[in-house]
Amino acid sequence: MHWRLQQDLDNYPEILNCATQLAQNFLSGLDRRSVCPPLMDQQIKPDDQQLSPEGKGAVAALEYFWHHYAAGLSASAGPRYFGFVTGGVTPAALAADWLVSTVDQNSLLSHDTVAAAIELATIEQLKILLGLPAQFSGSFVSGATMANFVGIAIGRQWLGQQQGVDIAQQGVTALGPIQVLSANAHSSSVKALSMLGLGRDSLKVIARQKDSEVIDTVALEQHLAVTQGIPTIVLASAGTVNTAVFDDLPRLLALRERYPFWLHVDGAFGGVAACSPIHAHLLAGWEQADSITVDAHKWLNVPYDCAIQFTRHLALQLQVFQNHSAYLEAPTLRPDNYLHLTPENSRRFRALPLWMALKAYGRHGVQEIVERNVTLARQLGHQLAASEGFCLLAPVNLNVVCFALKNISGDAAMTRDRFLSYLDQQGIVRCTPTQYNGQPAIRAALVNWMTQEHDIQLALESLLACRAQID
Ligand SMILES: *Cc1c(COP(=O)(O)O)cnc(C)c1O
Repeated sequence: MHWRLQQDLDNYPEILNCATQLAQNFLSGLDRRSVCPPLMDQQIKPDDQQLSPEGKGAVAALEYFWHHYAAGLSASAGPRYFGFVTGGVTPAALAADWLVSTVDQNSLLSHDTVAAAIELATIEQLKILLGLPAQFSGSFVSGATMANFVGIAIGRQWLGQQQGVDIAQQGVTALGPIQVLSANAHSSSVKALSMLGLGRDSLKVIARQKDSEVIDTVALEQHLAVTQGIPTIVLASAGTVNTAVFDDLPRLLALRERYPFWLHVDGAFGGVAACSPIHAHLLAGWEQADSITVDAHKWLNVPYDCAIQFTRHLALQLQVFQNHSAYLEAPTLRPDNYLHLTPENSRRFRALPLWMALKAYGRHGVQEIVERNVTLARQLGHQLAASEGFCLLAPVNLNVVCFALKNISGDAAMTRDRFLSYLDQQGIVRCTPTQYNGQPAIRAALVNWMTQEHDIQLALESLLACRAQID
């Protein structure tokens, strides 16, 4: 054994202790850390582009990293990072994630670890939390992008089955023209269409309801009526990223009765609202969808990267993702082995942080995070709407505030970007830009478990101060 490896093997307690110290240092300073460190601090040192022949040993390497790069880490896990849709990490999920790497299980059903059984149990608990019936199976993937990929892949197989072809076997060329209909497909679903050989052009954008991102089901029905016979996938939004609105799932289900299509529901963050009796109505009907996406690294506050794909069509999923090889077969072949269900072969024990969080905080803990985030998003929305310098572009439907600068002169997008750069410099709150109804807009998406009322006040002070700077 190389002497550095031997030294570290003998030094495990000191190394883990060092990592604990660094973690505590980070966590205790999270509230004061910038949500957007200066670009200068995000640069890699020229020396660190090189591979060194001799190593430093783990403790020195950890300290080196921390000394040179800790300043370049964002407080994105903290309570005032409202950019994109960025979840944090609860203590139980963090501790579990450390253990995932410690025990380093390859969680396929290889009959030498309990990891796979815990994954399956986590899926069952999640189904109960989110009100999904027993007919659904689910598996862990790295994010909603992959969950959308898997859902649409199973949909593609179903389209083939309707025509008597097996796409998994014969390839996508055996499928004639198809269409994918959505008013608001997330960009990751469009990417999935590319990866799946269906092509980005297969997406036909359906009109939205007036002044909303919700799909216009009348327009959808008209389109379905004139394209009867063309195999169809409908991508429904259960929480759009700009305004967190939900497509009318009961109406989509009624249309599916008349015009058979595959219904995929992207509930990357919005799906978690199903855990709350106050908000669950938004997802009414999703239990009849063909496939569903839910992210765990957003509103479920587990560390990156973790999401779940659900489907009612396990047999089709197995056709797409089966992965047989003499050296991989377990003594009894279980169809629910993720090896045959998702793009991955080997993968980490991804379920444990979620399992641990559910064990530690239960249904009510998750529900409280969701309801608190929504209440606080509404507070932030009210206060922005009441201010001189901001206006809301949409009602705060759930946990996302979509707003714009008011009473400004000059180019609206450039002024918005200048405003956001002041906000980033202050580092108190992160909001990210978007385009809504043809206007340059700003989003604040609240999904962090730590966010509290005083964070909204701090955020608002910073927003108002930066608004004053652009006048
Ligand atoms: C975040 C998000 C995605 C993509 O998720 P990743 O976890 O980043 O891959 C897809 N759809 C919606 C609605 C999202 O909010």
